[in-house]
Amino acid sequence: MQDIITTRVGRFDILTLTDGFGRAPNALFPDYDADRAHAAAAQSGEAYDGETVSVPIQGFVIRDGDDITLVDAGAPDGYSPTTGAFMDNLAKAGIAPAQVTRLAMTHLHVDHVGQMVRPDGAKTFPNAQLIHGAGDWDHFFSDAVYDRTRPGGRERASLDVSRRACAPYADTRREIGVETEFAPGLTMVPLPGHTPGHSGIRIDDGGDSLLIWGDTIHSAAFQVAEPDWGVLFDVDPVQARATRRALFADLAASGLPILGPHVPQPGPWRVEKARIGYRLTPA
Ligand SMILES: [Zn+2]
Repeated sequence: MQDIITTRVGRFDILTLTDGFGRAPNALFPDYDADRAHAAAAQSGEAYDGETVSVPIQGFVIRDGDDITLVDAGAPDGYSPTTGAFMDNLAKAGIAPAQVTRLAMTHLHVDHVGQMVRPDGAKTFPNAQLIHGAGDWDHFFSDAVYDRTRPGGRERASLDVSRRACAPYADTRREIGVETEFAPGLTMVPLPGHTPGHSGIRIDDGGDSLLIWGDTIHSAAFQVAEPDWGVLFDVDPVQARATRRALFADLAASGLPILGPHVPQPGPWRVEKARIGYRLTPA
């Protein structure tokens, strides 16, 4: 993986910052079928060893002159032996945390909000407003949701980390429930299902556009050819599937290029119809 990849969209620079990667076992995909998985991976050109697929983890800087927006902010410390590069790569890009004015989060899962808080509990980005899709805060801070997770279990630990990362920003946060331009040329686009407030961020300038599509997929090997395949931790799997299907159809028709936190490098990509479902082609 490259540390930093720059994509130009009109006046904006979009920097893809690598955090690292994880490996997802077949069991992450509840609809997994071995024959279909091998066929999907072969069409995608992605490596598949029959048991796991690689899941890149990335965040994005949107630079508009001196104005810096982050879209997602890396996995937490200790998340995996193969993650943890996000803050180093932000520094390599020449950006100090205090320069970040917005944290536009695709959703509040740990691998997206992990570096928003320092070990001492203070904000990593002291001048940033947290912007996220409506429904995520209520979900991640819900007592009912929390009480349904098992004490000592992975889901509860994950909620604890998300809560700790987001809580310091409670005073300035903004929730967005319908497609909204939250800064000049930057629009939050609700893509619900993976989490209630899961959203994409669209960048538009001078006839140029690009969508950072959040966790529309976790595996380019499987889910582009098989858009019905969700992941175990989709909060609403039926809605996530419907959202992914509708978005793929829209993107195949419009040709709008995409990037994503779990999309292969280098990108950006277009979605096009293929023999099986869809495939990604370089934009
Ligand atoms: Zn994710």
